Amino acid sequence: MTFAAEVDLFVIGGGSGGVRAARIAAGYGASVMLAEEFRLGGTCVIRGCVPKKLYVMASRYASAFEEARGFGWRTGASEFNWQRLVGAKEGEITRLEGLYAKGQQGAGVEVVKQRATIEAPGVVKLADGRLIKAKHILIASGGRPNIDPKLPGREHVVTSNEVFDLEEFPKRVVIAGGGYIALEFAGIFRLLGAEVTVVYRGAQVLRGFDQDLRDGLVSAYEKMGIRFILNDTFARIDRTEGGLAATLKSGSVLEVDQVLFAIGRSPNVEGLGLEKAGVKTDADGAILVDDEARTNVPGLYAVGDVTNRVNLTPVAIREGHAFADRTFGGKAVKVDYDLIPTAVFTTPELATLGLTESEARERFDVVDIYKTEFRPMRATLSGTPERTMMKLVVDAASDKVVGVHILGEGAGEMIQLLGISLKMGATKADFDATMAVHPTAAEELVTLRTRSARHERANP
Ligand code: FAD
Ligand code: NDP
Repeated sequence: MTFAAEVDLFVIGGGSGGVRAARIAAGYGASVMLAEEFRLGGTCVIRGCVPKKLYVMASRYASAFEEARGFGWRTGASEFNWQRLVGAKEGEITRLEGLYAKGQQGAGVEVVKQRATIEAPGVVKLADGRLIKAKHILIASGGRPNIDPKLPGREHVVTSNEVFDLEEFPKRVVIAGGGYIALEFAGIFRLLGAEVTVVYRGAQVLRGFDQDLRDGLVSAYEKMGIRFILNDTFARIDRTEGGLAATLKSGSVLEVDQVLFAIGRSPNVEGLGLEKAGVKTDADGAILVDDEARTNVPGLYAVGDVTNRVNLTPVAIREGHAFADRTFGGKAVKVDYDLIPTAVFTTPELATLGLTESEARERFDVVDIYKTEFRPMRATLSGTPERTMMKLVVDAASDKVVGVHILGEGAGEMIQLLGISLKMGATKADFDATMAVHPTAAEELVTLRTRSARHERANP
């Protein structure tokens, strides 16, 4: 084999995990090449977290104009323009993409803007045919959205890859799925004025989240006019004169402008050449790694969504950073997956940390629940039906707070900081000893004195 270059590290994928690993490794003096086939920044920056949050922000203005009236404002006619939002979003992600390129360049990483695949252990092939010899190869190729491969009319469906850039604002949207993306986009489209239906295969959306959060969100969404069709999936999608006809397995037919599929993501491994190096994957295609990101092939590593563990940006970043610290910085760091805070950017926002009430009941003999539900202060004058819910789950024996669940404005911001307290092992007594900040919503978390429930295991 003739090699066009030889490097210490070759990173496949310039998303959250890849760019961080490349930059840190280069900082330790390693020679690093990184290949990105689409846009630097990856899913999160280009078609994930960042544009999603911008669209959530855009959607929340809809109720802000209404609410302002309750505070004495006379508001004129307001009008939303989808194309302007898409354009503004594009400007911002292009700016961020440029910052990522600069960051890589500044660290001395050579970025190649093309697809890279594995040719053999220690050898990467670029789309232009060049072969690169690499002491270490890091696969950080992320994931891609799933669509039922057998669905008739699947070509009419969009996923999160396309939804940010729709040419026209869809007035009627049907969304498949009941997870993060489905519910975030249901909120975005509804608040921006669309008729929204969520079709979910099970009995209740947000499986795995605390039951009160699930109930609270569904109730808020139904009040906003979002329709849920449960225990159903899609049978076929047909183009009609007026748009699309989505036929469900139950036989119902929905006339809509767009069908958004948000039924999970799969590891991006197709055509990557894993078989050429003998890299082991699980049944879903996820690359199997140990707790130091090592695959079964020496010199080959993987981080982020391609390993399908906790598919969140901060986790991919932490994994990429730790890989570089270990491999090039001589540091014995491991990623700690315990107590990862997470937020679903619905409106109302939902955030969660630690164990749900039912998980805690399975793990501990006696579990205490402290819960509050109230009308947030803004809703008193605006007259909106909004409610906030907060819940602490406490292991009675140790008094440790083992779970926090919040539904309401600022939930994501609150859970980030609560993450520190729980990581430090905060007890309910620590929460009680903390002085409140008044008037805030967050103060409720430190003023919960009356236990809502105590669950004792039948035979501890
Ligand atoms: P990615 O960011 O997906 O990067 C992989 C990169 O590799 C891509 O740029 C891809 O083009 C490139 N690539 C793939 N194969 C090759 C190849 N062979 N050669 C060259 N390049 C290749 N997480 C959060 O924490 N908070 C959120 O609010 C959030 N919102 C999200 C919203 C949406 C709509 C989606 C889809 C995801 C969201 N996520 C969110 C998840 C988050 O985006 C991912 O967990 C994160 O991007 C994973 O990082 P990664 O580095 O593993 O992969
Ligand atoms: P999720 O795993 O969150 O949700 C997938 C949904 O699709 C679930 O309701 C699931 O149902 C359903 N589903 C799965 N397979 C099928 C099928 N074959 N037919 C019908 N329904 C199906 O995935 P998303 O696509 O929403 O998002 C991908 C990941 O990206 C998230 O898990 C999260 O890690 C990350 N993300 C994070 C965000 C954040 O941090 N705010 C925002 C967006 C994404 P069931 O529950 O029954 O399995």
